[in-house]
Amino acid sequence: MFEFTKEQEMLRGMVREFSEKELAPRALDLDKKGELPAELFKKLADLGLLGISTPKNLGGSGMGHLAATIATEELARVYPSAAFFLEVGTGPVYAIANFGSAGQKKKYIAPVISGAKKMCIAATEPSGGSDLATMQTEAVAAGDGYVINGRKVYITNGGVSDYCLLLAKTGDRASFFFVEKGTPGFIVGRRQEQMGLRAVDVSELVFSDCKIQKDAVLGKEGAGFPIAISTFTVARLSIGALGLGIAGGAFDIALKYAKERILYGKPISKLQAVQFMLAEMDTEIEAARWLIYYPGAALDRGMTPRDITKSSARAKAVGAEVALSVTRKAIEILGGYGVSPEYHLARLLNDAMELFPATGTNQIMKIIQAGEILK
Ligand SMILES: Cc1cc2nc3c(=O)[nH]c(=O)nc-3n(C[C@H](O)[C@H](O)[C@H](O)COP(=O)(O)OP(=O)(O)OC[C@H]3O[C@@H](n4cnc5c(N)ncnc54)[C@H](O)[C@@H]3O)c2cc1C
Repeated sequence: MFEFTKEQEMLRGMVREFSEKELAPRALDLDKKGELPAELFKKLADLGLLGISTPKNLGGSGMGHLAATIATEELARVYPSAAFFLEVGTGPVYAIANFGSAGQKKKYIAPVISGAKKMCIAATEPSGGSDLATMQTEAVAAGDGYVINGRKVYITNGGVSDYCLLLAKTGDRASFFFVEKGTPGFIVGRRQEQMGLRAVDVSELVFSDCKIQKDAVLGKEGAGFPIAISTFTVARLSIGALGLGIAGGAFDIALKYAKERILYGKPISKLQAVQFMLAEMDTEIEAARWLIYYPGAALDRGMTPRDITKSSARAKAVGAEVALSVTRKAIEILGGYGVSPEYHLARLLNDAMELFPATGTNQIMKIIQAGEILK
């Protein structure tokens, strides 16, 4: 076990207070409306939550990846859709901070972590997110830039972003490109309905003879796959944290209910079957917690995304599993009330399911883990 710094403990307290005050009373309503209002998004940004892991010299709070994990966990305990936005800081912003030119860092990072602009990262295609090598979207050099054609699916913030970090084929390699909203040929397709994370925009994007300038390449032309691997490795920390938060939130609801619900003249927390479920949930959460905190702490200690390949894949998969397992048990403890929307567990269960494909499926996480174990 490792200890949290005073700063990290304070962050946890601050985000918990914010979540209870600002998110808890509105969670059901926000889910029904299917969007995170600008005013709430601004509050997340004003608290510095979009730039927790971004270095200070790039305008972030420089608190590190473990701090970002803690903040994501705390938001997700109450409202996972809001927590999903923090992935922007740990994913696309990480890519720009580590691979972008000085001009790109200046142009894109500060507006995104201040909440003034939104950014998405677009890799997945209809032909299969797990098999990115078969991707069809292509950028062909033309004149002083590129012409892009292709289609992306399941893009978080795709419909609401000002900037898109797009992965496209360039010859027999791939490259990331900045494509800005309003660029002719950059078309937002349909919003893709999701079973959970209902306030998060997940959309299709279409690129049709979309012309961009040569300097819109992130890093070097042809460096797309190595950048994608690093970026998704780091983004997986958010998904693990979301899972831990969902599990913690579901546990709290079940524990409170077990103490209050009277059957046979006493609280159901006195029933051994309920106690066993609570004990199992507690064990699952605590076992997951340290696996999920570890890769963020390792990055903060100077390890690279390459060094945390295995622990980040494991944290992501464990996060999805613990969220689903604990939420399901919580629903059982509440009996019929467990599946009623007002008890929030049905929503958390749906949100938990979204974590399985996000940033790569759990089967792909096992393949990554096994690759590292066997190398
Ligand atoms: C909420 C949400 C947000 C997302 N946001 C983004 C985003 O912002 N940007 C983005 O680019 N993408 C995003 N995605 C897409 C996500 O990355 C993909 O869904 C994921 O990579 C899986 O791709 P797929 O859905 O095409 O499934 P497929 O790749 O078609 O997989 C189907 C099944 O085959 C299995 N499978 C595939 N390959 C193997 C193998 N080699 N061995 C064993 N089993 C295998 C998978 O595990 C899965 O069970 C998001 C998805 C969700 C749900």
